Amino acid sequence: MANSHYRLRLPGPTAVPERVRQAIAQPVVSHRGPEFRAIFDRVEELIQPILGTRNRVLLFASSGTGMMEASLVNILAPGERVLVSCHGQFGERFAAIARALGACVDTLDIPWGRAVDPADVEKRVRAADYRAVVIVHNESSTGVVADLAAIGALLRGRPTLLVVDSVSGMGGVEMRQDEWGIDIVASSSQKALMCPPGLGLVSMSPKAWQVVGRDDRFPRYYWDFRKAMASVEESGTPFTTPVALVAGLREALEMIHEEGLPEVLGRHRRLSAALRTGCEALGLRSFPQAEMLSSTVVCLHVPESLKGGDIVRGMYQRHGTVIAGSRNKLEERVIRIGTMGDLRAGDIFTDLLHLEETLHSLGFPVTPGAGVSAAAQELLHAR
Ligand SMILES: *Cc1c(COP(=O)(O)O)cnc(C)c1O
Repeated sequence: MANSHYRLRLPGPTAVPERVRQAIAQPVVSHRGPEFRAIFDRVEELIQPILGTRNRVLLFASSGTGMMEASLVNILAPGERVLVSCHGQFGERFAAIARALGACVDTLDIPWGRAVDPADVEKRVRAADYRAVVIVHNESSTGVVADLAAIGALLRGRPTLLVVDSVSGMGGVEMRQDEWGIDIVASSSQKALMCPPGLGLVSMSPKAWQVVGRDDRFPRYYWDFRKAMASVEESGTPFTTPVALVAGLREALEMIHEEGLPEVLGRHRRLSAALRTGCEALGLRSFPQAEMLSSTVVCLHVPESLKGGDIVRGMYQRHGTVIAGSRNKLEERVIRIGTMGDLRAGDIFTDLLHLEETLHSLGFPVTPGAGVSAAAQELLHAR
């Protein structure tokens, strides 16, 4: 049992608001009955504006990775070519999934911390026939956001599909699926959607649906989007739905719309920027070197004299604040703090105080209050 000072400040899973926990605790209903159908329909209605789409939304009992795999299984055939942008851990995971399935995988290898250049994507799609271009919207390992509008524009009018992982973007970073021409968006419940892990979702364009509907794709059963699409027409899923999680998601989505989607996105932007500024003032430089920075995760360079693992451990043991390191080639060099979901200014001020004390305990020089002060200044002048 986590103690009362436990603060879940990871880039996913994120803390679940009381209202959502109450909704999840309600009695379980039949996943084929009228009570659940009403919840299911409402979820779709509330998700569509967040994704900027009029597509049907498919739900699965799954983590985010399952939705990445499901997206590829439904559109690829053995030996077909995909181009995967690898600018962080989740891009590499997408490439690994495509290879495991037996697709022919080309990668765009970009230094971690930088964004994919749409001009490079264009060069590659001119040079070869790709079934799909695969991009991570918000790369949680580096804190970089991809320019999906530009990439979508250059694929328009081509047969190539644009497949996007917006697991850590959706609900915290702007997404306009239809306007930007994104064919498949995959996401899951435990990031900016403020729910426990376990629910995956996907939204698919008519262009993608044409490919998904073909019989010559990879073998699929549980992940078959054709089955899911048939069930959505009857307000349900092909197999038993995690009804409690869907009830929780509905409540979380109601909260987002009560606050207002533009306000929610603006709050993510302001608080992530303020946390970054506060961390800089403590001597922790922002890691990404890109134009579009994430609003949902702050990635920080670990000072030369320190190790990321020691900061993460200190934050937890001294303060009960759970932040993330890196379990990849940035191990010990980068730490990450989630700035998504039900986050308020008080949360990031507490993060900064805990960071300051932890850095001090590790012998790193800090000026008391410098982080909080810099973040407060930023918030006062931000709009
Ligand atoms: C969290 C995350 C995932 C999904 O991870 P799961 O552990 O499978 O839920 C995928 N992509 C990105 C960018 C993520 O941040």
